[in-house]
Amino acid sequence: MLNPIDKALQQAVPTIMVPAHQELCPMQDYGHRYLIAADGIWVEVLRPWLHATWPVALQSSVAMPYGTLSRKVKFSFQKLPIDLISRFCAEARAASPVEHGTWITWNGQSGEFRYRGLDITHASEDELNYIRPVLDEDESLVLDLHSHGEGGAYFSPKDNRDDAGEVKIAGCIGLCDQSIQEQAYRLCLLGIFIPIPGPK
Ligand SMILES: [Zn+2]
Repeated sequence: MLNPIDKALQQAVPTIMVPAHQELCPMQDYGHRYLIAADGIWVEVLRPWLHATWPVALQSSVAMPYGTLSRKVKFSFQKLPIDLISRFCAEARAASPVEHGTWITWNGQSGEFRYRGLDITHASEDELNYIRPVLDEDESLVLDLHSHGEGGAYFSPKDNRDDAGEVKIAGCIGLCDQSIQEQAYRLCLLGIFIPIPGPK
């Protein structure tokens, strides 16, 4: 008999064999699940704002009798909120050379973005600490933005540690002392980082 903790964990995050001769059954609830396909292990993530399928570990040595998948990232919104991102860029410029941060959330009911200023507890030229906002019921974290002051826009090893395990878009704004700031964005999928273009 399965240990009740393992039973709960496996129900919350199941692993599914991808059928080779029929459609894969769609996810029923928000969360994530692992998929065993012919070429390895994939993860499927479903949020009110996101449906993504992405490989975790691919292999071609063993012929496994399962179906195939393709990479997929689909957002529920049409485009990133350029007005709110611009607001953050202006705040980051004002805060420079000290780092700055904000969250931008998305309401699954209204389809509206919201600028969530952070309760910053410590900010310096190479560190930013804040209290994570408590979100409303229909609200999801979509964009986690931070700035690098006068440094470039990139994701540091510390950013990688901070973003591991999260499902969100991380954005970094750099060169805040220059006339044109630098921006970098990536989709964070539970430890997988997928570079994506910034807002247009
Ligand atoms: Zn950073």
